[in-house]
Amino acid sequence: MNPHQHEVENTRVRVRCPECRSHFHERVYRIASGERVVCPSCRCEMRYYGVGYIHEHESVAAYLHHVEERTNHPHYSRD
Ligand SMILES: [Zn+2]
Repeated sequence: MNPHQHEVENTRVRVRCPECRSHFHERVYRIASGERVVCPSCRCEMRYYGVGYIHEHESVAAYLHHVEERTNHPHYSRD
């Protein structure tokens, strides 16, 4: 197990809803697992594929930056 993995299990990242463009926070592990994420404002559902996991990155900060690049750009979301 990557030593950083436990550090991100409860970490949340910023997500921008592709429908209503509002921002909310979701656990990074749910996003990396391709689980369904629901916007709290408009109830739009989205999934992010191919985000990858912490072990592919040098540090927690680099990984979170990588994830947020995707969750803040709606064309990465798939449902
Ligand atoms: Zn929304």
